[in-house]
Amino acid sequence: MPQRFCAICGKILDEKSPHFGMCTSCYIKENPLFELPTTVKLKICLDCYRYSKKEEWIKPNEEDFLLVIKEAVYNTLLKSFEKNEFITFSIDIDMNSLEFSSKDLITSLELKIEGFLNEDPSIIKEHLMKVNVIYELCSNCLNLRSGTYFTSILQLRVKNSNYFEMLNGVFDQITNFVNKKFTEDDRQYISKTVDQKHGLDIYLSTNELMNHIISYLKNRYHFLLKRSKKLVGRDTQRGRGIYRLKTLIKFLPVEKNDIIEIDTQKFMVEQILKNKVILKNKNNDKLVKDFDFFFNE
Ligand SMILES: [Zn+2]
Ligand SMILES: [Zn+2]
Repeated sequence: MPQRFCAICGKILDEKSPHFGMCTSCYIKENPLFELPTTVKLKICLDCYRYSKKEEWIKPNEEDFLLVIKEAVYNTLLKSFEKNEFITFSIDIDMNSLEFSSKDLITSLELKIEGFLNEDPSIIKEHLMKVNVIYELCSNCLNLRSGTYFTSILQLRVKNSNYFEMLNGVFDQITNFVNKKFTEDDRQYISKTVDQKHGLDIYLSTNELMNHIISYLKNRYHFLLKRSKKLVGRDTQRGRGIYRLKTLIKFLPVEKNDIIEIDTQKFMVEQILKNKVILKNKNNDKLVKDFDFFFNE
């Protein structure tokens, strides 16, 4: 078999040499595996470590700050090369390069990015990159800090002040429920609560959260439920209206086995169904009433 030579530098080629009659080092000079800037800016949320990619804030899978940086660099810069060119990357942080602000926040660091071609791992490129970290608040943390953002209102009502203690219990349960949701997803929270004559209004960050609370309450209490929505603006990017959702919840003022009086006759609450109450008098005569009856009376 005749010997082959590199068309650029003249070096003898073996069967492992890449295409086009070039040696590996000349091939890489001519066809860089990837090209990246030597300095990049990375926007990171001060409160939650979400990082910005184009116009979006991405929630990292990692919790450790340095791992978040690696994840952000990979997702914003490297991922696209990996898909199209079949390159595998590794990122190393130079721990001696870390610079800090007066508040001990990492403001910049240097990375060594190494990528190799999957079908020929001898084709490797190494790239040194400086990352300048810019701290901002993501849209969710801005909303959280301002304490005024909400999308829906849950209106809890009882018949009169005799039921306020029961209502306080309900509110405590809702608070615990929402705190648990918040630890799983920091977009779910109560923005504020406002006392009303016969109850309170709870302002919520998402409609999803309102629906979760309603299902939670449905498994524990009987109530009348009325939903409404109000157009409050327009989402110009998505070309559709922004609605504020309201749900009114009126807790039924009777429980199973309560004795109540209707037209001077005494009845016992025998059973409470989805929206009806079955009553029974001392002769075992049954009477069925809609939930509405107990609020109008
Ligand atoms: Zn060569
Ligand atoms: Zn944030």
